[in-house]
Amino acid sequence: MKINIKSIKDTLGAKIDVKKSINLESRKIRGQEIEFIGSCELDLMVINAEDKYVVSGPGKVLVKLPCSRCLEEVKEELNFNFNEEIKKVDVEHNELDLSNSLEEYIRLSLPMQVVCDEDCAGLCPSCGINLNDDECECYMHEVDPRLAKLDKLLDD
Ligand SMILES: [Zn+2]
Ligand SMILES: [Zn+2]
Repeated sequence: MKINIKSIKDTLGAKIDVKKSINLESRKIRGQEIEFIGSCELDLMVINAEDKYVVSGPGKVLVKLPCSRCLEEVKEELNFNFNEEIKKVDVEHNELDLSNSLEEYIRLSLPMQVVCDEDCAGLCPSCGINLNDDECECYMHEVDPRLAKLDKLLDD
């Protein structure tokens, strides 16, 4: 993501509003494949300040994440606040390159876990069936450890 600062570069204290819609490619973040829905919306302000440019403002994007219990897709809105300072000596071709910062804001705003529903029943640990849609009989084959002990006592 690049922002052209030509219009403010000669005036200290000058600022520009920059609204951007950016299409992001799905990518792996923290070992998870993240798919974006629609574009990332940024509403930034860039200020020409002494030896640097200050970029600030909100950003948001919708992502698809797997439910941590049943793995169904969950849509989640990521919100973050840009707040970057770019030294003027680092600016090339009158452009601020904020691609890496954007990537970092998205990464930091990703929740560690999401659930499709607070009551999501998850997957059966034995057969892997989605217990929200289906039932299985795995629990009938599992022996309650307390009963197993009792069995043993009766055997002796
Ligand atoms: Zn779920
Ligand atoms: Zn099962």
